[in-house]
Amino acid sequence: APDLLTLGEALVSLRSTGPLAVGGSLTTHLAGAESNVAVGVARLGHRAAWVGRVGTDEFGEYVLRQMRAEGVGVDGVTRDPDRPTGLMILERRTADLTRAQYHRAGSAGSALCVDDLRAALATGARLLHLTGITPALSDTARAATRWAAETAANSGIPVCLDVNHRARLWSRDTARAVLTPLTDHVSIVVASADELDLLGEPGADESTVVADLFRRGVHTVLVKLGADGARAHTPDGVRHAGALSVTAVDTVGAGDAFTAGYLSGWFDGLDLAGRLRRAATLGAFAVSGPGDWEGLPRRAELSLLDGHEAGSVI
Ligand code: ATP
Repeated sequence: APDLLTLGEALVSLRSTGPLAVGGSLTTHLAGAESNVAVGVARLGHRAAWVGRVGTDEFGEYVLRQMRAEGVGVDGVTRDPDRPTGLMILERRTADLTRAQYHRAGSAGSALCVDDLRAALATGARLLHLTGITPALSDTARAATRWAAETAANSGIPVCLDVNHRARLWSRDTARAVLTPLTDHVSIVVASADELDLLGEPGADESTVVADLFRRGVHTVLVKLGADGARAHTPDGVRHAGALSVTAVDTVGAGDAFTAGYLSGWFDGLDLAGRLRRAATLGAFAVSGPGDWEGLPRRAELSLLDGHEAGSVI
């Protein structure tokens, strides 16, 4: 069985270097929050597997090829002959502004269902990672997410949930109504500060939401704060983890990298400080280069950013 099992929708992202309306070339990239985490964990030498649905089209072939190249297991993936692989288009409109356009409605990935997951869950894993994107994709994907969380928790597999709110897919109220009950089966929650009240009462403050989550059985809540680092809530208290001081060129994917680093530290048996340090290191790698996951480190590269602790001089 793999260390990490994750599921969701992987997309092809097509990136421009300038305004789309004037044409020019687009480059092809693998995108998807869960596949980003799987790649991050696999680069560090852990066994990672991704399950989901892709089309029988060439983009589906491309998604699987990229994941295989990164060492992510894709044996459990379903190919859907009737639906296309989802696409997103990233238009670099100005140096400071990138517009995203999705073509994922009716995609193969959004047709994910419980049957697609049975074999992978039966094989098991050390940890299951889910995001709040998957239950927003369709009714069957929502049922599949809930089933996976329940099944894992019932077989003693800890579940990590990244809230990952996608405002284009559902409202905050719908997200809250679906995600809050899901946390009954979750051990580790990852959220941005502005996403936390999607797991509690609207507008609830951080400590109230965390206390509610602990009552539901969650034992770790990681609140991402961008360049300010992150806060970790555990039953032992709150710990702040600083971000590393690096030049940020593309912040997309930082959150997924952070999660991959935290989980890698957990697989390695590191203490909380060590897990947070690795999370911050992967977040720093992600923002330091273009692409959502391309710049993530292999294990021997982890020390490249030593000395970049905030405030340090090298
Ligand atoms: P995204 O949705 O863009 O992936 P996010 O909001 O989920 O991002 P962030 O809080 O932006 O996640 O970033 C996650 C972690 O990455 C932070 O906790 C921090 O450790 C690291 N990070 C983010 N931005 C920077 C930065 N500018 N410099 C250094 N580290 C950063």
